Amino acid sequence: MPIYEFKCASCGKRFEKLCSIGDNGEKLSCPKCGATGPSRVMSGFAARGAGKEELGGSGGSGCGGCTSTNCGSCGH
Ligand SMILES: [Zn+2]
Repeated sequence: MPIYEFKCASCGKRFEKLCSIGDNGEKLSCPKCGATGPSRVMSGFAARGAGKEELGGSGGSGCGGCTSTNCGSCGH
């Protein structure tokens, strides 16, 4: 069975659980605050995607003011 990483929507606590395939974790509860319905974190996919963008370069659409390639946050 795969291990999934979850993030509590209430307190932000991250935790891992063994889940059967197809289980989306809706019934899990946070080990810290007990809130149910954590969101599943796709850490592997996220890390890979970000690294690829940095290595490949974006041909001028990257930001000079921050490390993001999507600069809604810094205004560049
Ligand atoms: Zn929590």
